[in-house]
Amino acid sequence: MSLTIGVLKEQDEHEQRVSVDPEVTKRLVKAGLTVLVELGAGTKANFFDADYESVEGKITDRASILSTADVLTMISNPDQATLSALKTGQLLIGQFNALTVADEMNQLASTKVNVLSLELVPRTISRAQTMDVLSSQASVAGYKAALLASNVFPKYFPMMITAAGTVKPAKVLVLGTGVAGLQAIGTAKRLGAIVSGYDVRPASRGEVESLGATFLTSSVSNGAGAGGYARELTAEEQAAQQKELADFISQNDIIITTAQVPGHKPPLLVTEESIQNAKPGSVFVDLAASELGGNVAGSQPFETNIDERQVTIVGAANLASQVPNSASQLFAKNVLAVLNYVIKDETVQVDLQDDVLKDLVAVYDGEIVNPRLRKTLNLPELPKVEPIETEGD
Ligand code: NAD
Repeated sequence: MSLTIGVLKEQDEHEQRVSVDPEVTKRLVKAGLTVLVELGAGTKANFFDADYESVEGKITDRASILSTADVLTMISNPDQATLSALKTGQLLIGQFNALTVADEMNQLASTKVNVLSLELVPRTISRAQTMDVLSSQASVAGYKAALLASNVFPKYFPMMITAAGTVKPAKVLVLGTGVAGLQAIGTAKRLGAIVSGYDVRPASRGEVESLGATFLTSSVSNGAGAGGYARELTAEEQAAQQKELADFISQNDIIITTAQVPGHKPPLLVTEESIQNAKPGSVFVDLAASELGGNVAGSQPFETNIDERQVTIVGAANLASQVPNSASQLFAKNVLAVLNYVIKDETVQVDLQDDVLKDLVAVYDGEIVNPRLRKTLNLPELPKVEPIETEGD
């Protein structure tokens, strides 16, 4: 019997994406797999049931998928009812933020459900790049952040020279110039704004300048940490940074913030005082807004607040979901790359010695296996399996 992939509908009210689109469904069916898609799973992303059926995906209800699929794909975490319905040996693929949901991972381990959590992808291994949902979704979010800012901002982005007078261009500052920040810079430039970027990683200067934006030098001597990410700043560095940023902020109209430090809450870059000193009508779009706090003081995920000086703070959580069709298309390609990697001879084969899978797999065969997750849970390191030596002739 062929392997069955089940595509679940997202349950979070803010989520509009779907983990597998009709294009990827077509490829999976062509490879001999059965693809079950939950009724209406792609509708919010403009992928309709008929589109899946036209490529031989089978539309069915959630209960049937949960009881029959070998592999279940989703964007984000399953709810408690779904968790309880899962069966031993099923493989779950999604962006579960495994490091922050230890109880859920333990529960899945106890029922021997296997979990591949996409945000754990090792980003420096080139063969894993096609699986990198962090990059694909951050890129969409950065693009949307610039559009959202232009929508809220009460003026033009480009300079306008008209018979009725000249309008100055908007000044956009992007704080954090990783994947999302660079895309926000590119989009704001294309809209005609004057753009600058700021990051604590000196290496990002070249990337910012190659987009035609100005790179603002940080007082932090070298904020680069492991794996190409930023490190957490000391309290003194953070205070100095907030002070220097207050100046930069007051000279701009729109501030898009994207700063993250893996494993830590987002750094506070824009203080209450900086907001008070910003120009009236300034717009802050905080991509780091989360329950843990964001880069902008007072930003709340999924909320927009406007003060008496018409300063707008957009808590732009999960922005990729606001471009659901393109974001889903890219997410689905990431999922396809993962499926191609683990499905061999129509069975799922997870080699935990493989450099990509030993990071990507959170739970396997009843055990928490990801090293970072084990560390978070204070579990001892798993014993290393010595490579088998092959004797020469
Ligand atoms: P991220 O989401 O972790 O953080 C976003 C940005 O915020 C980063 O550029 C980071 O340096 C910056 N930041 C963090 N703290 C800051 C602070 N206090 N002040 C100012 N900026 C701060 O990062 P990301 O977008 O996922 O990318 C991080 C790096 O990883 C980049 O260099 C990117 O090019 C690299 N990357 C490499 C690969 C690969 O090799 N395959 C894939 C994706 C990303």
